[in-house]
Amino acid sequence: MREQLEIGGIHHLTAVTGNASGNLRFYRQVLGLRLVKRTVNQDDVSAYHLFYGDAVGNPGTEVTFFDWPNSGSNRPGAGEVATVGLRVTGQGALEWWKRRFNENGVLHTGIQQRAGVGFLPFTDPEGQRLELLDDGGGDGVPGGTPWEESAVPVEYAVRGLYSVTLTIHELAPTERVLTEILGFRRAEDQEGVCVFESGPGGPGTQVRIVVRPDQALARTGIGGVHHVAFRAADDEEHLRWQRRIAAAGLAVTQVIDRFYFRSIYFREPGGVLFEIATDGPGFATDEDPAHLGEGLALPPFLEPHRAAIEAGLHPIE
Ligand code: ZN
Repeated sequence: MREQLEIGGIHHLTAVTGNASGNLRFYRQVLGLRLVKRTVNQDDVSAYHLFYGDAVGNPGTEVTFFDWPNSGSNRPGAGEVATVGLRVTGQGALEWWKRRFNENGVLHTGIQQRAGVGFLPFTDPEGQRLELLDDGGGDGVPGGTPWEESAVPVEYAVRGLYSVTLTIHELAPTERVLTEILGFRRAEDQEGVCVFESGPGGPGTQVRIVVRPDQALARTGIGGVHHVAFRAADDEEHLRWQRRIAAAGLAVTQVIDRFYFRSIYFREPGGVLFEIATDGPGFATDEDPAHLGEGLALPPFLEPHRAAIEAGLHPIE
C-alpha cells in the first residue's frame, strides 16, 4: 500500500534581487513584512539571503531573496515561477493596498476578479511579478500572525503565500509529479489556468500552471524566482519525501540542514526548481524573537568564518 504523505502547503518562495537595500525598503517598508533573518546564501556566502515573513517567519509566510547584483535581469519564459501570490483578507484590504501602491509609486494593474476571488497584480521595483489575493478570512491553511510593529496596519497585513503560478511547456509531466508523487489534486481550471491544491486546498496551497509551448525557456535572474518550497511537517515525513521522490526516478538531493529548516531539492520536469522544507525548527533558533533579523545571523558551521564573511558583505539598510 502506498504511504500516506501530503504536502502541507507552500513553505517559502525564494527570488533574486540585485539591490539588497532597495529590496529591504520595499518588502519591509512598503509591503510591511518583517525581516526575520538576515543571513548569507549557504552555498555562496558573498551573497545576502534575506528572509521576510510574518511576526516570526512562520512556514507559509516566508518570501526570501538571494542578493546577486551580477546575475543580470530575469528573462521571463517557460520553466519558472512566473507569479507569486500573497494573501490579504477582504476586498477592503485590496482597496487599501491599491491606494498604498498609488502613494508609493508601485506599478499595479488594478483590482480584478478570478473565479470569484479578488486580486491585485503588481511588480516590485525590480520587476518581480506578484499579486495580492483576498483569502476570504478562514479558507485554506491558516494565515500567518501579522507583525504588530509593521508599517502596515494589522487588518491589512500580508498573511503569507497564497499561490505560485508556473509557466511550463507541457502539462502532463509536471501534472504527474504534482499528483502522483507530491499528492496534489487537480481543482477546477480558472480561465485556461490549471489549478492544483494540497491539504485543505485554497490559500496557501495553490500551484497554478500556465501552459505555453511557444515560450522560450526562462533565464533566472534579478526580478525572477529561484525556487518554491513546499511544507513537510517534521524530519520523519521529510525523509519519506526524499525517498519517495528518489524512488520515482527524479534527481533529488540528500537532506540538507539549513539550520532554520531541513531541505531537499529537485527540478520538476517543466524546469522549475522545487524544494521541500521542514516546518521547524524556525527562525527563533538563534535569535531572540524580539530582535529577529537585526544582526547578521550565521548557522554554526559558518560562525568560525564570521569575520571574513562580514568583510565580504556591503552594509544594507
Ligand atoms: Zn528555499
